[in-house]
Amino acid sequence: MPIAHNYLRTRVRLDHIAANYKRLAGLGGRVLAVIKADAYGHGLLETARVLTGAGCDGFAVGSVAEGAALRAAIPRAAIVSLLGPVLPEDDAMILGHSIIPFIHDFGQLERLAGRAARKRVKARVALKFDTGMARLGFVEADVPELLKRLEDMPAIEVAMVGSHLATADDPAAFAFVAEQGEGFGRICAALRRAGLAFEGSLCNSAGIMAHADRFGFETRRAGIALYGVNPFLGTDRETLGQGLVAAMETVTRIVSVHDVAAGRSVSYGRTFTAERDMRVAVVAAGYADAYSRGLSNAGAMCLAGKRVPIVGRVCMQLTAVDVTGIACAPGDVIHLLGGQGPEAVTANDVAGWWGTIPYEVLCLFGLNPREYV
Ligand SMILES: *Cc1c(COP(=O)(O)O)cnc(C)c1O
Repeated sequence: MPIAHNYLRTRVRLDHIAANYKRLAGLGGRVLAVIKADAYGHGLLETARVLTGAGCDGFAVGSVAEGAALRAAIPRAAIVSLLGPVLPEDDAMILGHSIIPFIHDFGQLERLAGRAARKRVKARVALKFDTGMARLGFVEADVPELLKRLEDMPAIEVAMVGSHLATADDPAAFAFVAEQGEGFGRICAALRRAGLAFEGSLCNSAGIMAHADRFGFETRRAGIALYGVNPFLGTDRETLGQGLVAAMETVTRIVSVHDVAAGRSVSYGRTFTAERDMRVAVVAAGYADAYSRGLSNAGAMCLAGKRVPIVGRVCMQLTAVDVTGIACAPGDVIHLLGGQGPEAVTANDVAGWWGTIPYEVLCLFGLNPREYV
């Protein structure tokens, strides 16, 4: 459900997502497209369809229900649920829609094995290992117990073994990637020695671009880079992400343009005072549109190719920007994300002003009504 009744439009370039996929797939291995959370705000079904056309045959969603919603659109592709079964009803959906769930503990495994045995079907699963995130997963020391229990679960077929990197996008922390990669390698080797045949999967986008030569394993999970964000922007490895193209822009409309005399303040709390006579445009976007109040006095928009800074507090549905010297009028289009030329606003820019990461910007801007171009 998009945010209703506003003037924002989030425009998605599906051809850019396809181009980014091809670039990542060109680095080798099997690439699962991570389209969890409504494809990071770009649209679950639309993104899955265009990637299928680009040759992608495996997708990773978040919840099991998200995978069930996807199944009809891509009847043959592999669908992995990264969250796995959280509630008992998820197990029925896993079997009913042939979803491969990430399984992170013994309780989940036994429940699913029991249900699959009763239904006389196989359950294909991805075993999730914690090699350094300390979030979800079995640990290396669980391997013997896991192998023992799997012997009594003929209905379970281990299709994948996965783990997630904590620092793949931080060149200062590549040593920790190596620690996780080596641990994961030992786990895969031990499971294979016991006769299991599966795809190993460790790398996310940053992992694919920086670590696949050593720790690529068979299958990689590409998320943020598919949507055109370079995970290494601003680091000394920036060139690794060259050539990715942004797939989202968000526009809205100018509501009013007026003069503000030197000494007058703008918006709630009087947090901005004009130091000179200026011209201000009031724009139809605010925190109810996922345009965070954290951007108050910090962010900028792009108007006719020029950066225009936010002045004063972001309100619920309105935000003021300094448009001094730029011709504009009510009804004009203004970019919250994207825009023309070198002053276009990137997801990294917004994230920096907002104090977050581009992932959050895409997920939240994607809650607005979308258009596909
Ligand atoms: C979201 C997610 C990914 C994708 O990560 P990106 O950094 O967006 O490429 C990969 N694996 C898991 C387990 C995830 O949750």
